[in-house]
Amino acid sequence: PFEVLIVGGGPAGASAAIYTARKGFRTGIAAERFGGQVLDTMGIENLPSVTYTEGPKLVAQLEAHVADYDIDVMNLQQAEALVPTSEDGGFHEVRLANGASLKARSIILTTGARWRQLGVPGEDTYRNKGVAYCPHCDGPLFKGKRVAVVGGGNSGVEAAIDLANIVGHVTLIEFDSSLRADEVLQKKLRSMANVDIITSAKTTEVTGDGEKVNGLTYQDRDSAEEIHIPLDGVFIQIGLVPNTEWLKDSGLELSRFGEIVIDHRAGTNIPGIFAAGDVTTVPYKQIVIAMGEGSKAALSAFDYIIRNEPV
Ligand code: FAD
Repeated sequence: PFEVLIVGGGPAGASAAIYTARKGFRTGIAAERFGGQVLDTMGIENLPSVTYTEGPKLVAQLEAHVADYDIDVMNLQQAEALVPTSEDGGFHEVRLANGASLKARSIILTTGARWRQLGVPGEDTYRNKGVAYCPHCDGPLFKGKRVAVVGGGNSGVEAAIDLANIVGHVTLIEFDSSLRADEVLQKKLRSMANVDIITSAKTTEVTGDGEKVNGLTYQDRDSAEEIHIPLDGVFIQIGLVPNTEWLKDSGLELSRFGEIVIDHRAGTNIPGIFAAGDVTTVPYKQIVIAMGEGSKAALSAFDYIIRNEPV
């Protein structure tokens, strides 16, 4: 058995493992895909101290850093169930899809999240070629250009406000007949000169020239008319889905969005089980935040273990 088992191998999981290994703890990482969302990322320009890097390169560096320590990396392993111990300081269990069972005194959950996709033609083709999901990450790439934000909830309207300060023009597209964002955000958005808001609009296609995005087509849901707008970028903001489906029956407290509820020490409602990164209620989902949260969860696991020595 492990002293600390980390489920997930993105920036949160890798950072947590480095920290617990450095405490001399027997540490394991079980990850479906080591690297997580970072593997799907092109340019990264907002990881302080690293002016520019690319996802696969950052993953290789995280992998090398993890390999410097005696960490048991179980890649391509999907966790299927979490069975918390009922004994004080006992061993929690994680069951894998391959039938194996892993036990550890403390578990750190870092299974991340995935952006909900529109599922329209062009979205996959032009991903990272004009189709973007993270305004904090990719906004500056569209300086002075025309972009659309699809989604009129809080994250879509926040993204549109953010982008309107950077890009030339923003068109916000909402499927419903009205925006769902908080009134104060809507008011702010409406006050911005370079923003158009289109409601009752069903996005049907992201168009491109074969190389990159050149527009978006939507259907006006009232008139059924198809309308094309020329654009340089499309930000899709229709939700971030935490990878917690496998935790539904574990007794772990989840938010109404399915995120693992954590306190300021990365603790969950179950003693000895911690969580970090995009899978949690932590606000703002970013690499530097996931790394910080993973390190924090590791130090909390250390604290837990030294206070709960086995008898
Ligand atoms: P993730 O990176 O999502 O990693 C989750 C890990 O858990 C993976 O290893 C996954 O395989 C594993 N996993 C999931 N379910 C299971 C399971 N059941 N069993 C076992 N393992 C499981 N952030 C920035 O700061 N800057 C950027 O420029 C930037 N650009 C981005 C571009 C794109 C296209 C995307 C998608 C995201 C971008 N982000 C960026 C966000 C950033 O990637 C995330 O905030 C960060 O990766 C979160 O780290 P994490 O470790 O919490 O989760």
